[in-house]
Amino acid sequence: MFWEKEIETIDKKELEKYQIQKLNETLNNCKKAPFYKKVFEKLNIEKINSFEDIKRLPFTTKQDLRDNFPYGFLTIGLEDVVRLHSSSGTTGNPTVVFHTKKDLEEWTNLIARCMYMVGVRKNDVFQNMMGYGLFTGGIGFHYGAEKLGALIIPIGPGNSKRQIWFMKEFKTTVIHILPSYALRLYTFFEEMGIDPKKDLNLKIAFIGAEPHSEQIRRKIEELYNIKAYNSYGLSEMNGPGVAFECPYQNGMHIWEDNYYVEIINPETGEVLPDGEEGELVLTTLKRTAMPLIRYRTRDLTRIIPGECKCGRTHRRIDRIKGRSDDMLIINGVNIFPIQIEKTIMRIPEVGNNYIIEIKKENYMDKLYVKVELNEKTFNGTLTEIENLQKKLTEELKTELGISPVVKFVEASSFPETEGKAVRVYDLREKE
Ligand code: AMP
Ligand code: ZN
Repeated sequence: MFWEKEIETIDKKELEKYQIQKLNETLNNCKKAPFYKKVFEKLNIEKINSFEDIKRLPFTTKQDLRDNFPYGFLTIGLEDVVRLHSSSGTTGNPTVVFHTKKDLEEWTNLIARCMYMVGVRKNDVFQNMMGYGLFTGGIGFHYGAEKLGALIIPIGPGNSKRQIWFMKEFKTTVIHILPSYALRLYTFFEEMGIDPKKDLNLKIAFIGAEPHSEQIRRKIEELYNIKAYNSYGLSEMNGPGVAFECPYQNGMHIWEDNYYVEIINPETGEVLPDGEEGELVLTTLKRTAMPLIRYRTRDLTRIIPGECKCGRTHRRIDRIKGRSDDMLIINGVNIFPIQIEKTIMRIPEVGNNYIIEIKKENYMDKLYVKVELNEKTFNGTLTEIENLQKKLTEELKTELGISPVVKFVEASSFPETEGKAVRVYDLREKE
């Protein structure tokens, strides 16, 4: 059950001591980076004695990373840096993170810990359908699985029929896949006449890298007859392996021996108590090449109060609600796309995909929700479809507080993407 029992079940007091020690090491180390050197010259903070002291440290933002591109956060010479990864941003300088050999070992160990936690062992066949390269999802899991000794199929995303062929021929037991792709991939099984429940050996999926609702997870579990575990990470904090679900699937254990965790009010910066929702802020505790202090992830979540039945003492974060910048304001009402997804996925007749469009019409915002229907429903009677449309509109209205226009389209109508799903099109400025 445990990859590293002592550290995974570490006593709270011990963990606190360990974190304070690591925070001081990180503080000393980060002052070697040009960016932090300047920051700390003004601040005059020599030592951290308690978690209260941390509140005096400034936040680091994505903009700081961009402004100090490419080497402003590096604490060491390039001779000791062995790899860089970069985030999926599409505008401006990308954010780049550098690693030493030791940094990569620590990251690998975390992924191995996550995979082992839910039962991956050396006799498993692991098909890694996440992108390899600058994106951290593919390579991160690859090294973790290799450490566990599983057989890895480093196939990357896309080419769905070939994915299914590999799954069948090599008796794949574990997959790592974007949740949006897991749903799309399923449509190819039907076409190929293969039943993933009966004809394959799948037992576990790791799904992550993009927001998804509990309903989507359950759907993936049902379609494939597997357990799907939520995996959270971001390139600035290595990538995957930051927080991960245990077999109880009740929040993601965030690895507090590697990250110091805070939840803040995104407006005021105030640190919030466990249980309250806010922005996740992380400090790296072990990274050497590029430590980050109080990094504002922009991801919204909360610490789930109480202990987990599995015995791990690292606290759990809730499913990510979205990024603070994902929030849509439609005619003055605040809406997160995940609320729309939750509502759609509660209705069994709908298909696996949807998009959201916001337009300006007669000076008012108009929300369009376009939803794929499964084949059977799409070919149903007009009355059936009209009733379904009414039902979904009503349920969305109850959830959101505003009335959307629901449109149905045929399955597989939306363009395919290999990376994270793009589902929100805000067309207001363009009109
Ligand atoms: P990147 O650094 O490009 O890999 O993107 C990281 C971002 O993807 C995070 O900051 C989150 O916004 C999102 N993300 C990653 N994993 C999850 C997850 N399990 N659930 C929701 N969002 C996620
Ligand atoms: Zn647990």
